[in-house]
Amino acid sequence: MEPINVRDPQTAARVYTQTLKWPLTIGHRYRPRAGCTCGESGCPFPGAHPILGASSFPKGVAEAIQNEPGAGLIASTVVFDALVMPRAVCMTAMVRLDAEAPVPVPCLLFGKAAAALLVLPGTGRHALTIRSAAAVDVRTGPEQWVALPPSQGTRWDTPPWADPAGEPVRLLHGSDVKPHLHVACVRTPR
Ligand SMILES: [Zn+2]
Repeated sequence: MEPINVRDPQTAARVYTQTLKWPLTIGHRYRPRAGCTCGESGCPFPGAHPILGASSFPKGVAEAIQNEPGAGLIASTVVFDALVMPRAVCMTAMVRLDAEAPVPVPCLLFGKAAAALLVLPGTGRHALTIRSAAAVDVRTGPEQWVALPPSQGTRWDTPPWADPAGEPVRLLHGSDVKPHLHVACVRTPR
């Protein structure tokens, strides 16, 4: 079997909605010469943020992608918590997690500046210490979201499925990630 190619939006949407059962919606669209469809010239996440008021539609997402090429894929943080942090902190944590965690920890990259680790829903706050809370933002619950690849500027460092079969990986509890995040924050210069 081929590794899953999430650069193709249809494949990506299928994996997110069918394999992982994540609630998904499409976001604003990135246009190479015209910027984000939200119309803000300084949009911080071009093509990678939700459309206000849009609902999630796991069944119609394939069609929506076809009609809106370049649209971001957005997941609300109900099936995982996202620990969003500076990329350098995340990479330091990942070195430790790769060596010590019992399963691969899904890791999303947002451009060069930020990254996120995914943990079990509702457990993100257990990943924090006083030190790491200053650098890590917990996104949790139906009101919050992350943009998923292939949204503009996003990429999986470690995907939430095991290649090549595409089985979902087991998410860790926030407390399992806690010591690694703490050390990463202490070691990464700000
Ligand atoms: Zn925008």
